[in-house]
Amino acid sequence: MSRERLYRVQAIVLKRSDWGEADRLLTLLTPDRGKLRAIAKGARKPSSRKSGHVELFTHTHLLLAKGKHFDIITQADTLDAFLPLRENLERVGYAYYLAELVDKFLEEGTENRASFNLLLGALAALSEPTTAPDLLARFFELRLLQYAGYRPQLFHCAQCGKPIQPTENYFSAEAGGVLDPECLQTPRAHLAEHVYDAQVISLDALKLLRYLQTREWETVRGLRVPGAAMAQVEALMLHYITHHLERNLKSVEFLRKLRFSIG
Ligand SMILES: [Zn+2]
Repeated sequence: MSRERLYRVQAIVLKRSDWGEADRLLTLLTPDRGKLRAIAKGARKPSSRKSGHVELFTHTHLLLAKGKHFDIITQADTLDAFLPLRENLERVGYAYYLAELVDKFLEEGTENRASFNLLLGALAALSEPTTAPDLLARFFELRLLQYAGYRPQLFHCAQCGKPIQPTENYFSAEAGGVLDPECLQTPRAHLAEHVYDAQVISLDALKLLRYLQTREWETVRGLRVPGAAMAQVEALMLHYITHHLERNLKSVEFLRKLRFSIG
């Protein structure tokens, strides 16, 4: 095998599935090559030395060989396995959710260093016991939406562009963010119809969304959020995300069931 066919990347394992007799097909997020898929040969064999280094959510250093359909992982070394998060089922559920969001929103083969750093930072934060995982997830959603080109409009009306006033406003995934009360009443010129998915957004929920969109995690992490605002932001974000992905997320169902069973 010639050296030109080999390359090194650092990667986070987003997804893995069985492939062939004993292999795994991995979906990886890398800083320079964006999302890519590669085969870990023999990774399902009990004797495999590679398998531990290509577990889900592991930050790993890989040596890959160019392949015909998928590239082949020839060496793997763990940089961080985020062990503390793996001891807590709820945090594992959140890690699934973050990885699934990244997988669904990012295209294969397009560099997205910001998203890589975001996910790496989020997995590290999830491993810290003081981190509130729901707050982290909401922060992550807003940042990822921005990096993927779906930043919701929160400061100006998504329809008329006027600054949003501190009254009761509306939120619409279809319009791309917040609508003022006036625009809720006005049919959109280009479609000659009203947005169909506008929901009331409280001032507290709007403030929280704006805060999450414009602050760094180090500032956000200490925030104490009223339960009602948090619940509304969670629901609005889920609506916004599923609208733009045009599909439901498996991990959301998992988290919901988990929450139900924990009570
Ligand atoms: Zn407006």
